[in-house]
Amino acid sequence: MSKYLYIFDSGHGGLNPQGEYVTAGKRMVKDDVVFYEGVNNRDNVKRIIEGMEAENLEAIDIVNDWRDVPLNERVRRANELSRGRKCVYISIHSDANSNGKEWNSASGIGTYVYEKGSKASNDLAKYFNQELVCNFSGIAKDRKVKKCGFYVVRNTNCPAVLLELGFHTNKEEVKLMQTELFKDKVVKSIVEAIQEYEEKQ
Ligand SMILES: [Zn+2]
Repeated sequence: MSKYLYIFDSGHGGLNPQGEYVTAGKRMVKDDVVFYEGVNNRDNVKRIIEGMEAENLEAIDIVNDWRDVPLNERVRRANELSRGRKCVYISIHSDANSNGKEWNSASGIGTYVYEKGSKASNDLAKYFNQELVCNFSGIAKDRKVKKCGFYVVRNTNCPAVLLELGFHTNKEEVKLMQTELFKDKVVKSIVEAIQEYEEKQ
């Protein structure tokens, strides 16, 4: 049993029973690429949770169906869980350039933490960034730890971070993000950062 329960949020919606992506935008469909962010996030969260369980770290998917659960409901579920035991919230995303429809050179991996967040949130973000830098050296650019006001990190009562795992508006990176190599490194980085958090907090 781990000290904390790790709550994962897959960011957006998935595919409905008809196979249609349910979230507006949050996709890249251009040339030979068909990428739905919420679908990729779900696949990443599934892999991360399997990696966590293999290391006896307790994890839960807060949005375990295809619907695009509203942000306030994600937060409500997380805050309810964190009343019962110590939790950590991790929101999984990928990034896009400004209009999200054209290819762009922006790339890399960023770790976001609430601008008025707790020391625990800042420590958590630091561990995530360190492990991501280490595992993605030579593969993806380090966009460092950034302060933000995103709803889910602002309103959750437990330590929280949001990870932007590559840019789906970068033609090369969106392909790389869907490879086993990239996904294995995502899992490894997150599990290692959490192991460090478990030891030090
Ligand atoms: Zn997103």
